[in-house]
Amino acid sequence: MTYKIEKLVEVKNLKKYFKVGKHQVLHAVENVTFDIYRGETLGLVGESGCGKSTTGRTIIRLYEATAGEVFFEGINVHGKKNKGDLKKLNRKMQMIFQDPYASLNPRMTVMDIIAEGIDIHGLASSPEERRIKVYKLLETVGLNREHANRYPHEFSGGQRQRIGIARALAVEPEFIIADEPISALDVSIQAQVVNLMQKLQEERRLTYLFIAHDLSMVKFISDRIGVMYLGNLVELAESDELYDNPLHPYTQALLSAIPIPDPKVERSRKRIVLEGDLPSPINPPTGCRFHTRCPHAMEICKRHEPKWLEVKDKHWAACHLHDLNKF
Ligand code: SF4
Repeated sequence: MTYKIEKLVEVKNLKKYFKVGKHQVLHAVENVTFDIYRGETLGLVGESGCGKSTTGRTIIRLYEATAGEVFFEGINVHGKKNKGDLKKLNRKMQMIFQDPYASLNPRMTVMDIIAEGIDIHGLASSPEERRIKVYKLLETVGLNREHANRYPHEFSGGQRQRIGIARALAVEPEFIIADEPISALDVSIQAQVVNLMQKLQEERRLTYLFIAHDLSMVKFISDRIGVMYLGNLVELAESDELYDNPLHPYTQALLSAIPIPDPKVERSRKRIVLEGDLPSPINPPTGCRFHTRCPHAMEICKRHEPKWLEVKDKHWAACHLHDLNKF
């Protein structure tokens, strides 16, 4: 879908560190900067441990930021807020989780799970209105009102994810962070959940940050895609542009690993195999964090961190290969 250039979320130099043991620090997110436009889906991809989920959770305030800023409709998410702004943030930003079962209270009925936000924010003036709202939400996500009095364990994975989506929708959000919402589902169910999310986006003009671990999963749902490696955002572009002209060697390697359905093309294409293991975010490499595995690494890469640059129109990357004024 197309999106208008209206910034809904601004992430500026975001850092999130975690203390590990007594003396060590895990650099989960390092200087990440990007905007999310109203009505778009921004895909965020990278291997597990690259900081994509931590970025999402820090944006929505499940984690405090170590440094940097996040703005939602101009409100400083991690700054001091008045009551009204806090209420707005709690309602307008919602999250859908990877494991819908773990995120649904097993002792609550579906009715009470979905109505929790309605109750907290006082969105129903009577028990009858509350019930009708939940029934409507169940129908919106492809379930029915008979499901309201059941418990989470009575549902399949795909149905539980629908309940998680209904719970998020109950408070009429504008922005939803979907943290690997389809990774745990069967392939046949994945498409159904993605289709549902797209339908809801069109109907309600929702904005999504869609987090996934591989590029093939985000291709069809995302307007733009950001690629993360070891806590850094390394590339960001419109989806087609990223697939057709990847600039960062890490993105090129990820794309080369996606199987192509045509066996002829599949046989002849070149795969870029990355050498070495993913370094630890407790002790990340100096300079460009990707230099220990990059097939194009140069001397400068070991010493100097590449700048985050708009290399082409709306196409950002952090790589010395594309910085014409390195110093
Ligand atoms: Fe590779 Fe250097 Fe670019 Fe990093 S900055 S991705 S090491 S070429």
